[in-house]
Amino acid sequence: MPVPWTKIDAHTHTSASDGTDTPTELMQAAAHAGLDCIALTDHDSWAGWGEASAAVQLTGVALVRGMELSTQAGPGSIHMLAYLFDPNDTALIELTAEIRDSREHRAERIVARMAEDFPITWEDVLEQAQDARSIGRPHIADALVALGLVPNRSAAFDQMLSPKAGYYQPYYAPSPVDAVVAIRAAGGVPVVAHPGAYAHGAGLAPERLRALVDAGLGGIEVGHRLNSPQLQQQLRADAARYNLIVTGSSDYHGTGKPNPLGEFTTAPNQLERIIDEATGVPVIVPA
Ligand code: AMP
Ligand code: ZN
Ligand code: FE
Ligand code: FE
Repeated sequence: MPVPWTKIDAHTHTSASDGTDTPTELMQAAAHAGLDCIALTDHDSWAGWGEASAAVQLTGVALVRGMELSTQAGPGSIHMLAYLFDPNDTALIELTAEIRDSREHRAERIVARMAEDFPITWEDVLEQAQDARSIGRPHIADALVALGLVPNRSAAFDQMLSPKAGYYQPYYAPSPVDAVVAIRAAGGVPVVAHPGAYAHGAGLAPERLRALVDAGLGGIEVGHRLNSPQLQQQLRADAARYNLIVTGSSDYHGTGKPNPLGEFTTAPNQLERIIDEATGVPVIVPA
């Protein structure tokens, strides 16, 4: 069935992970930005779904329930968007709990190392995490800002939180292929996020893309500020070759990142394909 929405932002974050808007504020911001449909995709958590769903009628913005799953490929991390999966899927519940646990413990280790050089404590980080279910470097960054050690979150990522600074620690996450399989098993649609963030902007190696497609990949996030125009062109060709869904988004984090809502959007016929492939939960539609 054709979808009735035309301004669709398929990737956003709230305070349930590392965004600064509550789910209600996100839905209101989406309405103000002129969007009529957004996907909520917090990192490794769908704790924001309930509150965002309750704001659909109020704002008139349709809600695609999703998340952004962390995965690990060698030394690099790859993010896998997951749309409309069943939130009661036991395997996905256990997998995300394991990732969140590992990510938080490793954040504690990063802070312990940083505390040798800077006046930062784990309590400072927890103060920034508030209602976050998924604690990571963004919250350490916010603590560094609050302590006056850096001007903003992005500066913290460029400086102390960069692997080059020597405090960085890795964390457990499944392989991208295992993530794709787990999302499909839960009735969701896996879409690989912002390929421009990997391999120094070069995107996904052809062998990796083929392996993901073989595992059941549904789509590629083409419209994203981390994908160069040249990479976007290549990704569109890749998507055509494998008959994959093409999405676009802002990756909005409130004041945590400069990305404005609706910076890139998803075509209605592409969202329609996501809806057609999903068997977990429906889109929440305003009356
Ligand atoms: P971590 O997964 O704990 O290593 O932290 C990396 C995450 O920080 C990524 O998923 C980014 O989306 C997120 N992040 C949030 N704000 C920023 C920012 N201003 N610069 C870089 N990464 C950011
Ligand atoms: Zn994030
Ligand atoms: Fe991401
Ligand atoms: Fe994101």
